[in-house]
Amino acid sequence: MSEQNPPEDKNQQKEERHKKSMQKQKANVDAKIAAADIEQGIALLLTGNGKGKSSSAFGMVLRALGYGQKVGVVQFIKGQQMSGEELYIKNQCPAVTLYQMGTGFTWNTQDRSGDIAAAETTWQQASAMLADASYDLVVLDELTYMLGYQYLDETMVLDAIRNRPAEQSVVVTGRGGGTGLQEIMDTVSEVKDIKHAFRAGIKARKGVDY
Ligand code: ATP
Ligand code: MG
Repeated sequence: MSEQNPPEDKNQQKEERHKKSMQKQKANVDAKIAAADIEQGIALLLTGNGKGKSSSAFGMVLRALGYGQKVGVVQFIKGQQMSGEELYIKNQCPAVTLYQMGTGFTWNTQDRSGDIAAAETTWQQASAMLADASYDLVVLDELTYMLGYQYLDETMVLDAIRNRPAEQSVVVTGRGGGTGLQEIMDTVSEVKDIKHAFRAGIKARKGVDY
């Protein structure tokens, strides 16, 4: 049996290697953080087929409110079911301005011209927020569908997002959205659908799904 590498030595070597690797990683991360020094609002797109887009946007609403920031939320599609965030904002959170398109999913309304009129009225609220520097954060929930169905003019929407006040952040949610939208956003995250409880027959859950 070899006496050269008793277990304590091996452990010590492991510790040393780990420490060195962490030091290197820290230097890398610190350098990257130091390099990202532009102070401006961020445009985010949360897309993909998985669950978690709108709820992530409302997570950012909570973050912004924690710093006393002014928040606007415009929901382009709204089902019959009241969501927990809607109840909370309406009843207990006057700091958030909430506007809802009020029509359900397009496959429920089955009324194209009515949907377009509702989308345009809703967009007026959204574009007013995007032009108002007093808003720190604007959430445009399910906006991508308005572009996908061509209910709203893409150039008009992209210009409003691009030309918003420099300090304002904007979060757009919804599946798809197109390459034009992706190009102008600073952060684009795709939520991947790996599995969803719904497909196993589990009913949508209060506080989780709505
Ligand atoms: P959430 O609001 O829960 O963050 P989301 O914004 O990512 O979800 P939407 O397409 O807006 O997704 O749908 C909202 C509702 O549909 C939620 O109840 C959510 O659980 C459900 N849902 C989302 N993705 C899926 C999916 N892949 N299959 C089935 N149901 C889904
Ligand atoms: Mg959503």
